[in-house]
Amino acid sequence: MNKFNGYRCSICNTEYLPGQVTYTCPKDGGNLDVVLDYDDIKKKFHPEDVTSRTEASLWKYLPLLPVNEPAGNSTPLHATGWTPVFALPRLAEKLHLKHLWLKDESRNPTASFKDRASAIVVTRAREIKSEVVVTASTGNAGAALAGMAAAVGQKAVIFAPKSAPQAKVAQLLIFGAKVILVDGTYDDAFDLTVKASQEFGWYCRNTGYNPFTVEGKKTAAFEIWEWWVEAHQEWHKKDNALDEHSPLTIFVSVGDGNIISGIHKGFKDLLALGWISHLPRIIGVQAEGSAAITNAFYAGTETITPVSATTIADSISVDLPRDGVRAVRAATQTNGTYLTVEDEDIIKAIAELGTMGIFAEPAGATAYAGLVKAAATGVVGSDDPILVMNTGSGLKDVRAALQAVQPAPVIEPTLNGLKKIL
Ligand SMILES: *Cc1c(COP(=O)(O)O)cnc(C)c1O
Ligand SMILES: [Zn+2]
Repeated sequence: MNKFNGYRCSICNTEYLPGQVTYTCPKDGGNLDVVLDYDDIKKKFHPEDVTSRTEASLWKYLPLLPVNEPAGNSTPLHATGWTPVFALPRLAEKLHLKHLWLKDESRNPTASFKDRASAIVVTRAREIKSEVVVTASTGNAGAALAGMAAAVGQKAVIFAPKSAPQAKVAQLLIFGAKVILVDGTYDDAFDLTVKASQEFGWYCRNTGYNPFTVEGKKTAAFEIWEWWVEAHQEWHKKDNALDEHSPLTIFVSVGDGNIISGIHKGFKDLLALGWISHLPRIIGVQAEGSAAITNAFYAGTETITPVSATTIADSISVDLPRDGVRAVRAATQTNGTYLTVEDEDIIKAIAELGTMGIFAEPAGATAYAGLVKAAATGVVGSDDPILVMNTGSGLKDVRAALQAVQPAPVIEPTLNGLKKIL
């Protein structure tokens, strides 16, 4: 039995039954939202029934997911999610902010946010008995799919641009996926993957194209919701001057726009269940050289015009974002906005986060770079409580990381040698 009612097209609102479609809307190619049976969930569960579950993973939110729990319980797939939130007091002070936190998605099994999507898509693939799962990826989505697939013995095929950072390619190969490097961009790999999945009957995980990627990514919103209820109570106790109702502002880096759409979807699910009364403010951050969604946002349109992307942040380097429409709405429907940052700002942000013990890849540090700009330009106020997402580990791209720092000095191994450089 399906755990969801069906799908609704994000463009034309046509609804489909679970067995009717697999990927996008047959009429207009629009991305599909999974429609849960909210009435049934409300009848069966109170918020406490979910928050009191003891899984330290995204499976804690099983009652709100459109898949069944996968068999077994001690694989990386079962350990995805439930990432920590850290306070950043020294950086808050620098930016003249009172309340600043970071949710560290680099702690996921393959070290990026993408594990959330891949855990759910691999689970779905097993439910519909697909033998092979395929994805296009700039690196992280592939590593996540390869890792989750390996964890449960599923076959995976990954298409990535040949320019993908070495660590990401190493992950793909080590996880035993069939890895195909494409002499082209991520966008070329994306289109080829769709064709290959049609030709060979493989189940396609492609970001945005597969409706279940958002269903995995939305679990971050559930974790933020739970964390926020507690954090909010805590700091309200300490400082009674704070406005009890200041909404949380969340900063997310954006490439295809699927993470920001997923976080938005999670909060919309909670709103539909009546478990929250309003949505947090969601702010998307793009690299200046890969800003198709930001362009649409400021043009006041949901029509996404492709760009020719160039940025050091490879995970958000996208010509034609595959979840642009929903990504624009994540900001317009939450009183949020979009910002762009230069590669230079992204590199600086890697070093700044490093001073708090957090190691982010360029796309991971992009959200923080956006916050720096937002704080300087008044997009956020000093009282606003802020949560920044770090979406991926710095170990994914050490070449970029080394651009953020001075090289270490080399000395002869003597005290004299040491004294010369101190
Ligand atoms: C994929 C990715 C993003 C962006 O997510 P989109 O859904 O493409 O917007 C950001 N940071 C990292 C590290 C990623 O891997
Ligand atoms: Zn449609």
